[in-house]
Amino acid sequence: MAAKELPVVPSARPGTMAAADMSRLREQRPVIDMGKCNLCRECLLYCPDAALREDKNEIKVYLQFCKGCGICALECPTQAITMVGEYAGNRGFIDK
Ligand code: SF4
Ligand code: SF4
Repeated sequence: MAAKELPVVPSARPGTMAAADMSRLREQRPVIDMGKCNLCRECLLYCPDAALREDKNEIKVYLQFCKGCGICALECPTQAITMVGEYAGNRGFIDK
């Protein structure tokens, strides 16, 4: 059967990911150096989970929505975003 003939079925109920807590999926988190940021807002446009917001001339990460994909860091034109490991130490604790 050709791929086009397969039925299109949703993998999750519509809207369910909008309120999902992404913290447990994340292996890395974005850290923003506002000293390098020019507030171009590219990261806001590219983030697939709308986890970034501008607030009072500062870009903030809402970690409950961030899955740690790193797209924001890749797209940032000034390299203001660095992805840092979520886990550290021998026991792999989560650094909150
Ligand atoms: S790491 Fe991915 S999900 Fe998290 S803020 Fe950046 S683009 Fe959004
Ligand atoms: S893409 Fe980079 S420079 Fe632009 S607003 Fe985001 S963090 Fe700042």
